[in-house]
Amino acid sequence: MKENGERLLVDVSRLDPEGEDFEGEVDIVDLDEEFVKPFGGVRYRLNAKLFGTELLVKGHLEQDFDLVCSRCGRDFDTTVKVDDFLVSVEVSEKQEYADLTADARECIILALPTYPVCDESCKGLEQKTVAPSDNRWDALDGLKVEKA
Ligand SMILES: [Zn+2]
Repeated sequence: MKENGERLLVDVSRLDPEGEDFEGEVDIVDLDEEFVKPFGGVRYRLNAKLFGTELLVKGHLEQDFDLVCSRCGRDFDTTVKVDDFLVSVEVSEKQEYADLTADARECIILALPTYPVCDESCKGLEQKTVAPSDNRWDALDGLKVEKA
């Protein structure tokens, strides 16, 4: 996580007891991978509600990426969407904010395609340009394993 980075926070101290919708964009996915480049921020539409000391947040996240097609090797833009983001965090009475940055970031990364294709109908380039021993995607697997 970069220093002074943006964070996805829920203001627990002022949260409407009936629950509250909030939306916006926050720049929290700071991957620095050659073949996986996020751009813009995570757009979110979330609902947050407190149940006693449990904060339940659910909703939609999406992030634009510049990916490299695993078949033809071309760059293409895509939007990774998470429609069922759901997180519950324990909060104390004195706590002002709940930080959902790590959860949202992880959710977006997990939703990345393992073998991105620019188009379902992509036939790739000539066979020899896409070697079978291509291991560029191992880096992405490593990212996924890192999850706590
Ligand atoms: Zn392609």
